[in-house]
Amino acid sequence: MTPRSGTDLPDVPLFCAAAAAQGLDLTAVLREVVESQRYVLGPCVQAFEKAFAAYVGVPYAIGVANGTDALTIALRGLGLGPGQRVLTVANAGFYSSTAIRAIGAEPVYADVDATTLNLSPAVLTEALAGPPLGAVVVTHLYGQLADMPAIAALCRAAGVPLIEDCAQAHGARRDGRLAGAWGDVGCFSFYPTKNLGALGDGGALVTADAVLAERMRALRQYGWGAKYEVVMGGGSNSRLDELQAAVLSAKLPLLDAANASRRAIAARYGAAFAHLPLQAPRAEAEDYVAHLYVVRSAQRDALRAHLTAQGIASDVHYPIADHLQPVQASACAGAHLPVTESACAQVLTLPCFPGLTDEQADRVIAAVSSFHERAMPA
Ligand SMILES: *Cc1c(COP(=O)(O)O)cnc(C)c1O
Repeated sequence: MTPRSGTDLPDVPLFCAAAAAQGLDLTAVLREVVESQRYVLGPCVQAFEKAFAAYVGVPYAIGVANGTDALTIALRGLGLGPGQRVLTVANAGFYSSTAIRAIGAEPVYADVDATTLNLSPAVLTEALAGPPLGAVVVTHLYGQLADMPAIAALCRAAGVPLIEDCAQAHGARRDGRLAGAWGDVGCFSFYPTKNLGALGDGGALVTADAVLAERMRALRQYGWGAKYEVVMGGGSNSRLDELQAAVLSAKLPLLDAANASRRAIAARYGAAFAHLPLQAPRAEAEDYVAHLYVVRSAQRDALRAHLTAQGIASDVHYPIADHLQPVQASACAGAHLPVTESACAQVLTLPCFPGLTDEQADRVIAAVSSFHERAMPA
């Protein structure tokens, strides 16, 4: 195959957010909202909140402007603020760190499990025995549900609130219990490339706690209890709009099928890569919704260059661990996270999205295989 220049569009993209790729024509949905003259926090948002709460299996869902706001509002809703310590992981793109810093609290980083790259229950156990934590944020990274039976039990026993970052895990479940239904509150993003994606920014909070739901509902809109009556400090404008809510309601019924097709691609890759010197995601069960198909390779950068030359898009989620980000590296100088740091140097995301054809998947497989044939002569 001829080498390609870096400016060519890839033949196999990393994502496809087009609704049409799922056989969905949103024109009528959009027109209805345009003609309704209700554009923010109206009946479409209410209908979506109801449907999404039912899908996750919790009583309350609250639409917000994006996933980062969801995390921030969850922390504020739980009463956290300056001076408090919040445990999180350092390999999940800095989103939880952004929210923790936004409320003036201090992120405390826990290393991750070497197999799943999710929060390690053993590390959590140690952290809960140390100085007090105001909350724990667990991220279901790449669409793999963390070890929630263990993590939820540990937090409950310690009396520490548990926030789930479900931005990569819409629909992931274990024993019939979905991501977002394990902790005190679940936070979702509907950024277009997420497993459930809008046509712009969007997010949601889910909870079974009526009082917390009320607080978070106030916080998303200026701290209002009733209109123009501010009952809570720390409020902001983080509303979900009607267009996004209508799109999300149209796409929600397709989510489980879309996740199944992501998992089928992951299974195809997994079978093909089994004999290669790569660490591939192990799960093909319902606790993995293949938001990102991430392999680990000791030759990550060379593999990535090889894929680019073959017209195959890839990316690194994420190259810089949170405690090493320039904005706070000196404040975090004491953090020691060997599994996280080694993962950051090795992770590589391959194309995996509903609508990726078998032929495209086979091109990815051929390119990954040919790299290893070239790199590892017998
Ligand atoms: C995308 C994402 C977020 C942030 O969502 P936005 O809607 O972009 O603010 C938070 N956490 C994780 C794990 C994400 O992947």
